[in-house]
Amino acid sequence: MGEPPPFLPYGRQLVDEDDIAAVTEVLRGDWLTTGPMVERLEEAVRGYIGAEHAIACANGTAALHLAAMALGLGPGDKVIVPAVTFLATANAATYVGAEVVFADCDATDGLMGPAELEDALERAGPGVKAVFPVHLAGQCSDLDAIYAIARRHGLAVVEDAAHAIGTRIAGADGRERFIGDCPEAGLATFSFHPVKTMTMGEGGMVTTNDSNLAERARRFRSHGMRREPEAFENSAMAFMQDGGANPWYYEMAEPGFNYRATDFQCALGLSQFKKLERFVAQRRALAEHYDTLLRDLQLPVTPIRRNPLCTAAWHLYAVLIDFDEIEVERGAVMQRLREQGIGTQVHYIPVHTQPFYRRRNGDLSLPGAERYYAQTLSLPLFAGMDESDVDRVATALQTSLR
Ligand SMILES: *Cc1c(COP(=O)(O)O)cnc(C)c1O
Repeated sequence: MGEPPPFLPYGRQLVDEDDIAAVTEVLRGDWLTTGPMVERLEEAVRGYIGAEHAIACANGTAALHLAAMALGLGPGDKVIVPAVTFLATANAATYVGAEVVFADCDATDGLMGPAELEDALERAGPGVKAVFPVHLAGQCSDLDAIYAIARRHGLAVVEDAAHAIGTRIAGADGRERFIGDCPEAGLATFSFHPVKTMTMGEGGMVTTNDSNLAERARRFRSHGMRREPEAFENSAMAFMQDGGANPWYYEMAEPGFNYRATDFQCALGLSQFKKLERFVAQRRALAEHYDTLLRDLQLPVTPIRRNPLCTAAWHLYAVLIDFDEIEVERGAVMQRLREQGIGTQVHYIPVHTQPFYRRRNGDLSLPGAERYYAQTLSLPLFAGMDESDVDRVATALQTSLR
C-alpha cells in the first residue's frame, strides 16, 4: 500500500515559484502599498476585460461595498439581490443603509434570470435603485435581458462577478465579451480570495466604464480623501497666497474606508493573472471530464444547467442531487466523501433565510432558490487537479450515494 491520495478540497489556489518570486521582489523594494504594482494589476485586468477603469481593493466584499458607495446608494433605497449568493452581496447593500429585496433564482442553475428580476421588482414596490446580479459558479444569466429590465426601471447594475473572471458572454449580435466590461453605466466586482480562479491572498477589483463612478470608488477606497485642488471646498485652508494648493492639504467630503490592496498582494495578483487563461482552460477541461463521467456512470447527479450564451470560466463544479429521492442525507454524503479524501461544499445557503435578513424582511418563500439549495453540491474543482482526480471523485460518489 502506498500513501493515501492527497485530500481534494472543493477549491484551492495554485501558487508556484513564479508567484513567490514576484511577491518577494516587492517585499525587497520601496513600495509595500499604494505603489506601482497596484496600477500594473489594474491595467492588466482592465485591458483584458475591456473596461475603461479597474480599481484594485482589499477583497471582493470591499469591491461590492465600494460599488454601492460609488452609486450613492443609501437609506430609503432598495437593492435587488438574488437569494442564492454569498452573504457579502446582500451585506454590501446593508452596509450603505439600503434595504435588500431578495430575488428568487432558477432551481436548475441558481441564477436570477429576467423573470425572477421582474418578480422581485413587482414585490419590492417603489424605491428600487439597483440590482446586483451574481454570476454563480462562473456562469451568468441572460445579461442583455437583465440590463434591458434595469434600463426600463432606471436601476443601476452591479455585477457580482466574484466567480466569473474569464467568463465570456455572447450578445445579441453573437459577439462575445468578457464579464466585467460593463456594457452600460454599471459596475462589476471580482474577488481574488484563494478559492477563486486566481488569487491575491485577499483581494478584489471593481471595473466600470463610467469615469465618475471610478473616481468615487477610488476615493472611497482611501478614506474619501481628495487631493485635486479643483475639488477643494475650504479655499482659505487649501491654498497659498500665490493660489497654489498647500502641499500637505487634502479634503474629505464624504467618509470612505481603508480598502486598499498592498503592492505584494497586487504582485501575486499580477503573477496569477498571467496564468489566468491557463487556469480557466484547466477548469473547463476538468468540468467537461466531470460531465462525461457523470453521464457515463449514470449517477443520480445532474450538472447545473448551462447557459448557451455563456462560455463559463468555471469557479465551481456544482451538481444537483435529489437527496430525498435517493434517501440519503446531503450531510451523510459529504461525510462519506470526506472519509475518502474528497471535500465538497454547499453554495449557498439562501441569504433570505439568514436570521438577520429574516428579522428585517420577515419570512419569505423563494421556491426556486430553496429547491436549488436543497439539491446543490460543489465537487472539487481547481487548477491543480488532473483528470485522475475527477475519476476519483466520480468513483467515490458512486459508493457514497447509495
Ligand atoms: C467570494 C465572494 C465574495 C466576497 O469576496 P471576498 O474576496 O471573500 O471578500 C462575494 N460574492 C461572492 C459571490 C463570492 O463568492
